[in-house]
Amino acid sequence: MSMTAPPQTAPSGDRPLDVAVVGAGFAGLYLLHRLRTLGFAARAFEAAGDVGGTWYWNRYPGARCDVESLQYSYSFDEDLQQEWTWSERFATQPEILRYINHVADRFDLRRDIRLNTRIVAAAFDPERALWTLTTDAGDVIEAPFCVMATGCLSAARIPAIAGLSDYRGRVYHTGDWPHEGVDFTGLKVAVIGTGSSGIQAIPEIARQAAHLDVFQRTPNFSVPARNAPLSEDYVRHWKSDYAEHRRRAREETRSGTIYDFATRSALAVDDAEREREYAARWAKGGANFMHAYNDLLVDEAANRTAADFVRARIRETVADPAVAEALCPTDYPIFAKRICVDTDYYETFNRENVTLVDLRETPLEAITAHGVRTSAATYDADAIVFATGFDAMTGALDAIDIRGAAGTRLRDKWAEGPRAYLGLMSAGFPNLFLVTGPGSPSVLSNVLVSIEQHVAWIGDCLAHLRSHGLGRIDATPEAEDRWGEHVREVAHTTLYPRAASWYMGANIPGKPRVFMPYIGVNTYRQKCNAVAAAGYEGFVLSRTAAAGNEAPRQRGGRHAS
Ligand SMILES: Cc1cc2nc3c(=O)[nH]c(=O)nc-3n(C[C@H](O)[C@H](O)[C@H](O)COP(=O)(O)OP(=O)(O)OC[C@H]3O[C@@H](n4cnc5c(N)ncnc54)[C@H](O)[C@@H]3O)c2cc1C
Repeated sequence: MSMTAPPQTAPSGDRPLDVAVVGAGFAGLYLLHRLRTLGFAARAFEAAGDVGGTWYWNRYPGARCDVESLQYSYSFDEDLQQEWTWSERFATQPEILRYINHVADRFDLRRDIRLNTRIVAAAFDPERALWTLTTDAGDVIEAPFCVMATGCLSAARIPAIAGLSDYRGRVYHTGDWPHEGVDFTGLKVAVIGTGSSGIQAIPEIARQAAHLDVFQRTPNFSVPARNAPLSEDYVRHWKSDYAEHRRRAREETRSGTIYDFATRSALAVDDAEREREYAARWAKGGANFMHAYNDLLVDEAANRTAADFVRARIRETVADPAVAEALCPTDYPIFAKRICVDTDYYETFNRENVTLVDLRETPLEAITAHGVRTSAATYDADAIVFATGFDAMTGALDAIDIRGAAGTRLRDKWAEGPRAYLGLMSAGFPNLFLVTGPGSPSVLSNVLVSIEQHVAWIGDCLAHLRSHGLGRIDATPEAEDRWGEHVREVAHTTLYPRAASWYMGANIPGKPRVFMPYIGVNTYRQKCNAVAAAGYEGFVLSRTAAAGNEAPRQRGGRHAS
């Protein structure tokens, strides 16, 4: 393996690759930049026709981020964060995609991205210490290191519903939306699914469609976004001390996002005061609501006060009491599923042209040639929109035939649930890094903060290997098991596992119920840094056969040849 450092500005050109990156969303792009800066030859392979990942695919009406844009953006370059101007508190998908394209151009990343290229297989050859990736066109790419930046919410999923192939109307998935947009004017539309994407899309589609039937299996809690153009003062507040705000977000918060964090229990104040606090946060909008008290995610009684408040708002907003009741979640704690952030969601059910179909009362039986059939009725539809989410965290990885040093398939190893040390590497799959992998904070965070941390850690790790003449790194099964146990323990100190959520794999029939993300961006970062500082504790670092198999220097982590 070469891994010699060229001048920092040199293009990777035809140099043998040091690192193959799969995916060109926020993670893949930053990887390219960081690895290039460190002098590695890296190239990204992307299934889509352009960069952007999530924001390339999810073009449905109403698609926005729900972490404020001033925080949901890269922090790695001060000039970039100073020069970019977000127009709204929560940017729309087109604006986020413009930003990602700007970053790709600004850092000249496109020359190292192969678009329209899906990686279908990746196998590690232990003799040559090389990953061999195969594309959907049958091309083969070799590199000693591979980073999967394939996204934690990128495997869009349409549930297996009887009769779907008989349906004669148009079918859409929010996570794979047509680029030219969809005009629903005059159409009868069915939306299936009321998670984050459905909740964003439903009000927009309702404004266009002749009629909209919303098929809901599980109601979700949603808080109003109160989206608005950004004021100059607010932007100045952020930009005048951007680096420090970012530092606080990554080092001092559990979610990688700065909110107005309370330090008191919800049960330490009287009802009137609690109501005032919730009302003030509700009026301000956004997920800030969930930080009104410091025990909302750990204490059931405290949690119930927030859930009651939201249910009261639903009942107050929705005119038909039966519809309001159907929209009220009652069987899991608020915040244990991803809190949705909406614009006019509950209000939409007061429209004449919108019907809520409660699938808990009347289960969905089949799709027919002309619509959707439940146990009670058939609903004609010219178009069906699946807002049914993703095979989260593992779906994109499972879709690739990944084989480790002993020929084991990653998806077989993960049959009982994903296992990865720090969510970064799975034992037996040397030199394969996962960005925002299961066991890391990923979807329980401002994902950009998690991406930047992983990319920096991986870059540092590769530089460490290079400077020590090492060519191979693998997690130990013991460290991986301990980490999995730790992830589980932390989750069970909270109310998260009480909900049958996609954090638990519960939206995919047959998927093992394992709480996948690690709770706590700040503590996670410290642990990753400590592991690196201890010479990559829990990993085995070694020379490769190609490098002569000499005994490596011992530096805390287990070095073997
Ligand atoms: C609608 C929506 C809204 C969201 N809003 C927020 C938010 O407000 N805040 C937040 O923190 N997070 C949000 N997220 C999560 C979001 O996914 C991340 O914030 C972030 O965009 C992930 O970037 P990524 O590069 O890791 O993955 P992605 O953006 O998913 O990119 C992965 C890329 O890998 C490609 N790929 C996958 N498999 C292969 C393969 N086999 N071969 C080649 N290419 C492949 C995909 O095509 C994709 O382009 C949202 C997600 C969705 C779906």
